Amino acid sequence: MAGIYLHIPFCDTKCIYCDFYSITNHTKKTEFLAAIKKEIIHYSTKLSDRKFDSVFFGGGTPSLLNYNEFDEIFKVLYDNYDISPGAEITIESNPGTLNIDKLREFKNLPINRISFGVQSFIDEELQFLTRIHSAKQAKESILAAKETGFDNVNLDMIFALPNQTLDSWKYNLEEAVKLDTKHISAYSLIFEKGTMLYSMRDKGQVQNADIELEQEMYEYTMQYLSDSGYRQYEISNYAKPGYECRHNLKYWTLEEYIAFGPSASSYIGNNRWTNIKNIGRYIDLVESGKPAYDFIETIDNETSITEHIMLGLRSIGVNFSDFRNRHNIDFESAYKSPINTLITNGYAVKDENSISLTRKGYAMCDEIVATLF
Ligand code: SF4
Repeated sequence: MAGIYLHIPFCDTKCIYCDFYSITNHTKKTEFLAAIKKEIIHYSTKLSDRKFDSVFFGGGTPSLLNYNEFDEIFKVLYDNYDISPGAEITIESNPGTLNIDKLREFKNLPINRISFGVQSFIDEELQFLTRIHSAKQAKESILAAKETGFDNVNLDMIFALPNQTLDSWKYNLEEAVKLDTKHISAYSLIFEKGTMLYSMRDKGQVQNADIELEQEMYEYTMQYLSDSGYRQYEISNYAKPGYECRHNLKYWTLEEYIAFGPSASSYIGNNRWTNIKNIGRYIDLVESGKPAYDFIETIDNETSITEHIMLGLRSIGVNFSDFRNRHNIDFESAYKSPINTLITNGYAVKDENSISLTRKGYAMCDEIVATLF
């Protein structure tokens, strides 16, 4: 089944490390909401034969929308797309924007998964990242979500901050595990070009974390979360059994997804396109009945094979029959030598159905894929 992504670009403030398309000026919100509903309807006829089992509101900060704004979007989605009754419906949220009253209202919407951008449980680290919430607020929001009946909760965490110690990262993980959520995503801090953080490094105000320390943090994360009952199913993602994010798995297993809103990327058939990263132009294009993308590509066979291997190894592994069905290639015979190298070095394990990376392999994933495939 396919997935639906909606990009809600509004944020209260811009975090120094953020590379997503997000804006703090909310004056075009009404026009944006009208446009995204129009864009949803625009693609519905072309996708009338598809079934959908995941809807993901990302951003930006989707939790800034109110009940009525979500309700109207859901009506348009459910009126125009075949969304299965058990679909996973996620909203990303900033803990500072969700209180118990709002959560109780949201419980009356189809939302059944909340992803909290917590990042850290240490106030100094949150201030460095220019997050709007405190550690206490984050815990309160997460507990309120669980109390309201949102059972499927994710925490996004960031490690390898400048000056962060292994002990402070361990503390963050312990606090995350204590909250007993179903899913944890733990990413290392990236200095993305164009962000405030990137220019701070250029000016010598901050430095990357030590590479060996970052590796140590990553290895500790894999071990600690595994010991705490979370199964790693992607380089940076860990879930209690049965709570792997269905929507993100679509990206990693090359399933189809349609995406709405500025900067949103879709993958349908063998075409991938990305919408324009400008809210004003996005609204104008949609309102004039034109596609809102600024970039479209057709994925050729070779690219599709490379992506299948790369994304598969980064996540749940490469399934041999799936690979044969998609590319008409026997993976085991075509890649015999790289497979042997991976297994001999302890980077991967294989059974009769698939090959997947070990923890040692995840830690070296990018190098492995680049060198062997
Ligand atoms: S809240 Fe999220 S999307 Fe918004 S600026 Fe911060 S990191 Fe970016």
